[in-house]
Amino acid sequence: MNKNQLQQHDRDHLLHPFTDFHDLGKQGTRVITSAEGPYITDIDGHTMLDGMSGLWCCNLGYSRREISEAIYEQLNKLPFYNSFFQCTTVPSIELADLLSEVTPAGMNNVFFTGSGSEANDTNLRIIRRYWDLKDQPQKRIVISRENAYHGSTIGGASLGGMSGMHKQFQALDYIEHIQQPYWFGEGGDMSPEEFGIHAARCLDEKIQELGPEKVAAFIAEPIQGAGGVIIPPETYWPEVKKVLDQYDILLVMDEVIFGFGRTGEWFGADYYGMKPDLMTFAKAVTNGYFPLGGTMVSDRVAEVIKAKGGEFTHGYTYSAHPAACMAGIVTVNILRDEKIIENVRDVTGPYLAKRWAELADHPIVGEARTLGLVGALELVKHKGSRARFDDKCTAGAVCRDMSIKNGLVMRATGDTMIIAPPLILDTAHIDELVDKAHRALDDTAKAMA
Ligand SMILES: *Cc1c(COP(=O)(O)O)cnc(C)c1O
Repeated sequence: MNKNQLQQHDRDHLLHPFTDFHDLGKQGTRVITSAEGPYITDIDGHTMLDGMSGLWCCNLGYSRREISEAIYEQLNKLPFYNSFFQCTTVPSIELADLLSEVTPAGMNNVFFTGSGSEANDTNLRIIRRYWDLKDQPQKRIVISRENAYHGSTIGGASLGGMSGMHKQFQALDYIEHIQQPYWFGEGGDMSPEEFGIHAARCLDEKIQELGPEKVAAFIAEPIQGAGGVIIPPETYWPEVKKVLDQYDILLVMDEVIFGFGRTGEWFGADYYGMKPDLMTFAKAVTNGYFPLGGTMVSDRVAEVIKAKGGEFTHGYTYSAHPAACMAGIVTVNILRDEKIIENVRDVTGPYLAKRWAELADHPIVGEARTLGLVGALELVKHKGSRARFDDKCTAGAVCRDMSIKNGLVMRATGDTMIIAPPLILDTAHIDELVDKAHRALDDTAKAMA
């Protein structure tokens, strides 16, 4: 099939995630056909630096044959076996071991799932089981944050705080949302430091309003990813820690994006010095080569759910899929043996921070922020104000298209441009990324004038 035929069949038969079907029918999809290192190429032969690591997952880029070969070998040896009914497989044990080593101290158990959404559903099940076994069944409410993303199953989407999603389904009724630590968007006249404290105090207020005896857990991404790479002010997490220390409430950190090196530490929890009770992972654990997710369970929780008898009535057919676990083993070993995360911390993260900050001088950029290997740009109409071009987020959509034209995949979340490139980028790649982003901003400014 040629490009037009592919696009026509796509239109006719494929329903895409998070897509306006009507709109896409008019436009046609971009057909991506191959990839190498940190680059992807479409059917027209247009090659782009992938500033989004696929969908936050290909942290090692696209050319790690060790991963694909390990999957292939595993598929030939034992393509599938489940981990129900007192059965197990060698790769699942080995990956569980490895994850216990690389995750924060005190997290030594894992429950595998097929995705991040499923893992957050698993978290809801574990939280409930934990409090039931502790004879505190009244602890039911989970607090989350507005504009959080925790996946797209009913559980995951209920935990998430995206208003557009909530309009299209019936959310679980035991989840409450508080303000997000988004200083640029919601900080008003407060300094970032003041606003970080304010946003953390919202958690305290909510707990008091609901009654601490009814609150089971607080869930948060270390940094909101899909919400627009919202890096909380430095005061935020320490203050959240203080709040949580006062109450007997579980902390769930959703590390689906920030796990496996994105901040320059293994996990966001390491970066912020937090001690989560549960930690969701997915995406980069297999470098995107095979679907896999899961939740790391702290000793505090594991001791309770393992100590008393009674079946935990939860699990998925593909929990601990052997080929997925093989992909995870090889990925984690590469990250560790090649010191890729240390390189982000010591070399490429600081270099991106320096080069990305130059974009803050651009006339349509209101803020440029980075941490490790993520970055965001806030597009504004008037420099010095936070006013956007319009309320339809036209500038973001234009900038995304201009970026692709210039050979860089950036994503638009409203009028916030975001990047999360592969962790294997070197400084020359970062120069290329920033130069292309600069050109995309110039083109956007022209188009919006
Ligand atoms: C992507 C994402 C999820 C959902 O993972 P899926 O594998 O798409 O189900 C959950 N939480 C966060 C923070 C994510 O970014």
